[in-house]
Amino acid sequence: MTVYNFSAGPAILPKPVLEQAQNELLNYRGSEMSVMELSHRSSLYDNIIKEAEALLREVMEIPDNYHVLFLQGGASLQFSMVPLNLAVGKKVLFVNTGAWAKKAIAAAKNVAGVEVEVIASSEDKNFSYIPEINPEMIDQDAAYLHITTNETIGGIAFKELPTTGKVPIVADMSSNILSNDYKVEDFGVIYAGAQKNIGPAGLTIVIIRDDLLNAEPVFAPMLDYRVQVENESMYNTPATYSIYIAKLVFEWLKNLGGQAEMYRLNQLKAKILYDKIEASPLFKSPVSKENRSITNIPFITGDSDLDKLFCIQAEAAGFKNIKGHRSVGGMRASIYNAFPIEGVEALVDFMTQFELENGNGAK
Ligand SMILES: *Cc1c(COP(=O)(O)O)cnc(C)c1O
Repeated sequence: MTVYNFSAGPAILPKPVLEQAQNELLNYRGSEMSVMELSHRSSLYDNIIKEAEALLREVMEIPDNYHVLFLQGGASLQFSMVPLNLAVGKKVLFVNTGAWAKKAIAAAKNVAGVEVEVIASSEDKNFSYIPEINPEMIDQDAAYLHITTNETIGGIAFKELPTTGKVPIVADMSSNILSNDYKVEDFGVIYAGAQKNIGPAGLTIVIIRDDLLNAEPVFAPMLDYRVQVENESMYNTPATYSIYIAKLVFEWLKNLGGQAEMYRLNQLKAKILYDKIEASPLFKSPVSKENRSITNIPFITGDSDLDKLFCIQAEAAGFKNIKGHRSVGGMRASIYNAFPIEGVEALVDFMTQFELENGNGAK
């Protein structure tokens, strides 16, 4: 049975990457050692982390005045680290678009000396859309505006960025980094846990504009961007193996045609599923059409028993991890960069079959 993994994260990785890792597992480039066994201070490993950074800079077209960090602690640690470094004694603005934005807001509120203002929210409609943001809503004295470019659970995404004047945008890009056409120079800080679209868990990417680095040390060196920059992400032992896999993924992505090609493919994959949902007499999308995500696609029947049945049958047919997040129910197809288009086509066929069997075949 062919298995398609729709997991929201940790998520599917490109098969050629896993095969290369397998080939190199016991003997990395003639060293007779695994990458896992290399000292992070060795020249072999130094090449891996440097290449990873160079490749990421190339595929994301990261300008020279941005630093790239390979950290740990997940996107969740960045919820605290960003305000701690950029906003003590200042105000920060948030757009509340769903479960992840809420967590980021809660964490910022816990940082002493940071004032938090939520300037827009879509909570009134169960986070089914991206609220409108006008330039007048942006206090020009704020340290930054935080957005979640893609809400992994709710399935909505920013297509256009708000106009913020001189206030930098800080983005949690965990679930759509490298899969869209965002431009790094439109952001002050981008952060992302690797396990959605980049590599194994345990690695967090942070991209930060040079002028936003904290002037003053923060209380813990591990939480201090400047310390991490000065030590080239090696203040302590980094997530060496996760960084190695990320490097292979960046290589794979570059060889496929880069981020623009990923974006094209992701739009195509998403369209196949959305077209099915729109034409379906049974399945519906719970989010507004204008803001729907191309990487995380929730869908429902409107009948929770039928949703449950679908999930059970889908799981048995090889469509794994398609159950919606426990907070929203229904189904969710996470179709990140590494997810093959054939898997989306197979899912659509399966949905059609399910409609027929449940007496809703014709529209
Ligand atoms: C998964 C996810 C997170 C949490 O990431 P961790 O690496 O587990 O901390 C935060 N934000 C978004 C948008 C996510 O998708």
